[in-house]
Order: sequence, then C-alpha cells, then structure tokens
Amino acid sequence: MLPDVDVWLPNTVTQECAVEADTKFPLETGGTFMGWWLYPDTAVVTVMIGPGPGALHERFRFQPDQQWQLEQIAAHYERSGRRETYLGDWHSHPGASRGALSWIDRDVLRRVITTPEARCALPLMMILWGSSGTWQLTAWRAQTVPRVVLWDRLHLDPVQIRAF
Ligand SMILES: [Zn+2]
Repeated sequence: MLPDVDVWLPNTVTQECAVEADTKFPLETGGTFMGWWLYPDTAVVTVMIGPGPGALHERFRFQPDQQWQLEQIAAHYERSGRRETYLGDWHSHPGASRGALSWIDRDVLRRVITTPEARCALPLMMILWGSSGTWQLTAWRAQTVPRVVLWDRLHLDPVQIRAF
C-alpha cells in the first residue's frame, strides 16, 4: 500500500542534512524542517534549520538547542511573510540499517503534539539512517488518537518523500 502522506523535499535540503550528519558521524545530529502544507496530506519543505550551537550530540541520542531553533523558526516565519511554518524534525541514526523510530523518538513526537507553542498537531519526523554516501531518509507523520482509558495512542503514517 502506498503512503497517504507526501512530502516534497528539495535536493538541496537533503544534501544539507547529509553534510550535517557526515560532520557529526558517528554521533547523532538533526534539525527542523519548515515549509507549508499544500494539501492536508501534502507538505512542501523549503528550509532546514540545523541543530544549533548548544545541541547535544551523542552516539544514540540527539537533543537540539531548542532556544536557538525557536529563534530561527520565528525569524524564518517572519521572513517568509508568515507563510512557512514548523513542519517537524529530522535526526540521524548513524550506522543504522533501517529508519525505524525509537521509543525516545516517539516520546519526542508526543511532546511536540501536546506542546501548544509548537502549533503542530501533525508533526513530521524524518530519520536519516546509514552512513556517508549511503544516507537514506525514512519519514513519518504523527498524530495522537484519543482513547477512553490509558494514554492517547501515537499513530504514525508512513510518508512518501518526493525529491525535487
Ligand atoms: Zn532517533
């Protein structure tokens, strides 16, 4: 079955992610995507915002410099005439042989969804996995599905990445 969600991703942005991942290899790194939703299930990425100077890069963990990212996001939002917004995040899984999300990644998605300031109910998350020259991108769009008992369930839709 084909994914129902499409993300248009400029090759220049993919290249920026790969360069950033190469620079920090074998530690994790990542960043944020901005752009807009062209249709309810089709996003267009325009820029990538990097990890920031205070980001934490570890072998199996990445934490962006959130204050720096928020400033960059706000600045780009204004520059774009308030058209391009935060779409979601990406990070590297150096040396991984597939693009699965970890439990930590799922917790991050829950936090984004439940943080009102993020204004993002359907965040994208892309994993850049592999190593230099062979990086692959796997993307997901997350949402929470309310349940009567227990916590809300995190639902992940696979995303078809369309390069341009
Ligand atoms: Zn991860």
